[in-house]
Amino acid sequence: MCGIVAYIGPREAYPIILKGLKRLEYRGYDSSGVALLDNDLRVYKKKGKVAELEDSLVGKDLHAHAGMGHTRWATHGEPNDRNAHPHSSSSGRLAMIHNGIIENYAQLKNELIRKGYKFVSDTDTEVLLNFIEDIQKNNNCGLEEAVRIALKRVVGAYVIILLDKESPDTIIAARKGSPLVIGIGKGEHFLASDASPIIEYTKEVVYVNDYELAILKADELILKNLGNEKLTPYVQSLDLELAAIEKGGYDHFMLKEIFEQPDTIFDCLRGRLDVTKGTITMAGIQQNIERLTKANRIIMVACGTSWHAGLVAEYIFEELCRIPVEVEYASEFRYRNPVIHPGDVIIAISQSGETADTIVAIEKAKENGAFILGVVNVVGSSIARISNAGAYTHAGPEIGVASTKAFTAQLTVLTMIALKVAKEKGTIDNTRYMQLLGELHSMPEKVKEVLKLSKPIEKLAARYKDAADALYLGRGYNFPVALEGALKLKEISYIHAEGYPAAEMKHGPIALVDEHLPVVFVATKDSYHEKIVSNIQEIKARKGKVIAVITQGDEIIEKMADDYIAIPESDELVAPILSAIPMQLLAYYIGVAKGYDVDKPRNLAKSVTVE
Ligand code: GLU
Repeated sequence: MCGIVAYIGPREAYPIILKGLKRLEYRGYDSSGVALLDNDLRVYKKKGKVAELEDSLVGKDLHAHAGMGHTRWATHGEPNDRNAHPHSSSSGRLAMIHNGIIENYAQLKNELIRKGYKFVSDTDTEVLLNFIEDIQKNNNCGLEEAVRIALKRVVGAYVIILLDKESPDTIIAARKGSPLVIGIGKGEHFLASDASPIIEYTKEVVYVNDYELAILKADELILKNLGNEKLTPYVQSLDLELAAIEKGGYDHFMLKEIFEQPDTIFDCLRGRLDVTKGTITMAGIQQNIERLTKANRIIMVACGTSWHAGLVAEYIFEELCRIPVEVEYASEFRYRNPVIHPGDVIIAISQSGETADTIVAIEKAKENGAFILGVVNVVGSSIARISNAGAYTHAGPEIGVASTKAFTAQLTVLTMIALKVAKEKGTIDNTRYMQLLGELHSMPEKVKEVLKLSKPIEKLAARYKDAADALYLGRGYNFPVALEGALKLKEISYIHAEGYPAAEMKHGPIALVDEHLPVVFVATKDSYHEKIVSNIQEIKARKGKVIAVITQGDEIIEKMADDYIAIPESDELVAPILSAIPMQLLAYYIGVAKGYDVDKPRNLAKSVTVE
């Protein structure tokens, strides 16, 4: 949540920062601002999207060779001009941007108020900034030292970037819990929440770790820990192309990402799955195969869409590997007192690899001796680094706030891991193993087939866009897909939607059914087919409108449903990779039909780096 970007070097800072903010806007978009440092320190900020900030800056003095920008996802204080970042310190000497939450801000604020400080915003950020300034004044020290002292007292998560009027050639940044990447150019430096604002200038980057402080000049990067010891920056080369983070002719990132799925699934399988040899090559899994085959239990820890991928994986792992699986919301798992044994394996699933709750949950499990396997999309992200081993989903940057291609890539990776473990453990026979390898191999082509249905789904969306509520039902492997479908609809179209196991509707939700309620059945052919056919009958008997996602040629449901979307036949174990796609398209087209900004749905932000 929240995007930050900064620059120091010979170029004009503002255009770089503005472009960077637009790239990062998916992380937060309730307000934005920039601070530019030359002989003076100028701060401009505004409620609303980055484009509104840009308009408001026409004609202003924007010349500077150092500066920073922020796009906010409010945690403390409503989105307005006053609470937007950058914040200025009481004296006006310092400016700061922040991604995260300062948990002990109230206590620090009271201390500062007693000393006579006045606050102009409601944010935790302004408190930390004035706390730093207070230390700087009292200790008569430089900004770097003041930041170090201040951070020792701070409880919470942050990336902060500071500019000091008295040192126009320096930027100071620090991190704990929120992401920060430094791009190293020739005589210039870039800072950002992720690599997207940096990639067009340089591919050499340093990922800053927790409790590290970066002191940047145009031609110098000094990295230190909070104990003031110098660290050697670990410079990595980014494997990311600019095209991957641009819209490429699509109206929205979400649509582009939905349509990328044949490629992203292919990329995910590439170099791993070999159907002719019957092998799955995943170094991280192979090196730790005993931990996995001997696991007493697997706990999937995730949030949101990734949690739904974990639910599908529960069915897959239990079926193929005969290992008990639990699926946990990271936010609940971390705060209860979970029983974790050294023989447990935690699979942490996260698109960004920066999900705050998941990070803390796995740190806790690691302390208790569990083995952590990360399934993440963003290479080099925090979860990837904390995990004992992992497998990347290789879906490329996901910018649309509603996760799509990351979900199907997660399902693909998790299925490969389960197959590999099952094969090693001997819980799958060779015929079934080879058949499922073939099924996975055919996924990119079948996904292409599903995407051909986008026009009929768009028409369907036009018919159902005015629904007030919707019910999503599925059984077995398709039950989590129903949950995911309901989540997508809520996120993008703001229509109230609920997902349930189809049989559960009789325990409550069926009371909602009348002639106005659309009920989406994820009902591809599987071992529960007859059961779900009965559930459809039950809805029809109460005049509900049935939209069914079915397997091509399923004449039984074709006749019963008001509308149907027929997708290619596949094994039930991999069916969610296909059945998820009509869910994504339906939500997308309904959101568009209602005139909403589907890439930036209200109140949401990508990469939830706060709890
Ligand atoms: N806690 C800060 C605020 O509410 C920063 C939020 C963010 O990460 O965007 O302003």
